[in-house]
Amino acid sequence: ERLTRSTADDVERAAEAALRPKGLADFVGQPQVREQLSLVLDAAAARNRAPDHVLLSGPPGLGKTTLAMIIAHEMNSQIRVTSGPAVQHAGDLAAILSSLEDGEVLFIDEIHRMARAAEEMLYLAMEDYRVDVIVGKGPGATAIPLELPPFTLVGATTRSGLLPAPLRDRFGFTGHLDFYSIEDLQIVLRRSVRMLGMEATETGLREIAGRSRGTPRIANRLLRRVRDWAQVRGSGIVDLTAARAALEVYEVDEKGLDRLDRSVLEMLCRRFNGGPVGLNTLAVSVAEEPETVEEVAEPFLVREGLMSRTPRGRIATRDAWLHLGLTPVDEDRG
Ligand code: ADP
Repeated sequence: ERLTRSTADDVERAAEAALRPKGLADFVGQPQVREQLSLVLDAAAARNRAPDHVLLSGPPGLGKTTLAMIIAHEMNSQIRVTSGPAVQHAGDLAAILSSLEDGEVLFIDEIHRMARAAEEMLYLAMEDYRVDVIVGKGPGATAIPLELPPFTLVGATTRSGLLPAPLRDRFGFTGHLDFYSIEDLQIVLRRSVRMLGMEATETGLREIAGRSRGTPRIANRLLRRVRDWAQVRGSGIVDLTAARAALEVYEVDEKGLDRLDRSVLEMLCRRFNGGPVGLNTLAVSVAEEPETVEEVAEPFLVREGLMSRTPRGRIATRDAWLHLGLTPVDEDRG
């Protein structure tokens, strides 16, 4: 089972990599981040220096990794990719930093999950392009300073508030990625259709875009599932019929809620009477990590007006009850 799953993951990753826009001009939507980033890059080019360190925040699948790669591409430089969970010791980070080349981009995904000791090493590296490598143990240990070439750190996190202030402050620029509009997702899909040599209708693409949770990664994934359906059961064309039928098969509802979104809402309404309920309690009841509920499901549910966060906990809105086909509890009570 594990083997099949990782093979499926590999296929998804390869498909994703193939569709990644290469330059800033191909990056759809997020006009503010695009404008800000292009200023940072142009200024650095004009001064002939490595651009400031960049922090990108936002829910998964909105383009953080893609932007990191675009930064490297626009700088004509290489990119080194790692992630917070992979950096568990300061030594892991020292090894990466000391092998960087002049002007390279270092991308650390989920940077908020890096080990504390590595984080402190990163402060110095970001500020002075230097690390202190500790040699030996106990009282005899010495710190050997090691010069690093100028590099640009691109950190990604689901929420910038998860980062300790000293780390956050060392980024010259923070870009917040927001969920995409249906129109922008349609542009993403049109581009994918072209690149994959598919045939699609506008109504078909609009249907997919509207059910993609505001997320390009999901839009591209659903597009491939709809194509499967179109090829096997339909006319071969990604049209409205294919989109509706395939999305039904994959249990994506009209608002694009996925299984986790729905189970969070169902719990909130059915078990907790609409709340308020604390994040941890809610997470336990859907058998998920609190971080996953908070960083993956919640931002979208809040944006869609299905859930709100209050000081006393999470509550389901009237629209949430209606979306689940239930009678809002306060109306029940009169
Ligand atoms: P994140 O790192 O935020 O989880 P990614 O950068 O890996 O997200 O994006 C996932 C996929 O979505 C990419 O492979 C890319 O094909 C697509 N994508 C993301 N943002 C955009 C965008 N603005 N324009 C076009 N495609 C995008």
